[in-house]
Amino acid sequence: MKKAVYPGSFDPITNGHLDIIERASKLFDELTVAVLVNPDKKGMFDIDERVELIKKVIAQYDNVNVVSFNGLLIDFMNKNDIDVIVKGLRAVSDFEYELQMALMNNKLDATKETVFMMTSAKYSFLSSSAVKQVAKFGGCIEGLVPDELVELISKRVK
Ligand code: ADP
Repeated sequence: MKKAVYPGSFDPITNGHLDIIERASKLFDELTVAVLVNPDKKGMFDIDERVELIKKVIAQYDNVNVVSFNGLLIDFMNKNDIDVIVKGLRAVSDFEYELQMALMNNKLDATKETVFMMTSAKYSFLSSSAVKQVAKFGGCIEGLVPDELVELISKRVK
C-alpha cells in the first residue's frame, strides 16, 4: 500500500490545499494531511481548529485523513509507515525553501522521497496568509476557501 503525507500549517486550509489533496488522493492509496505544530509560531487558528476545518472538507475522500503532529516529519512518517511527502509548488519563490526541506528530509532518512505537485493555475496566487488578510479587512473569500468554510473563517478572523 502506497501511503503519503501532505504536511503544512493549514492556517486555514484553502482551495489551493484542497486541490492538492484531491489530486494526491488519486495517486496514493492513503493520504494523511498533517498539521504541523510549531511552538514558535502562533497562528490565527489553533491546531485543533485547523484540524476540524480540514475534517469538514475531506469527509468526501475515503482515503484521506487528518492529524496534527509535533517534532520531526521523518519521525512521524516512520511511526506511521509513510515513505512519501507531498508538497505543492505555486511559484519559483516556493522552490528554494521546498528544495532545502526535501534535501534535509532525505539527508535525515534516505528512504523518504518528496513529490512535488504543481499548483492549478487558478490557485497559484492563493495562500493562507492572503486569505486571512482579505478576510480580516472584510473582503470576500468566496472561491478562495471551501464553500462550507467561508462563513466560519470570515467570522473567526474578524
Ligand atoms: P501557506 O501558508 O503558504 O498556504 P502551508 O504551509 O499551509 O502554506 O502549505 C502546505 C503545502 O501546501 C505547501 O507545500 C505549499 O506549497 C502548498 N500550497 C499552499 N497553497 C497552495 C496552492 N495555492 N497551490 C498549490 N500548493 C499550495
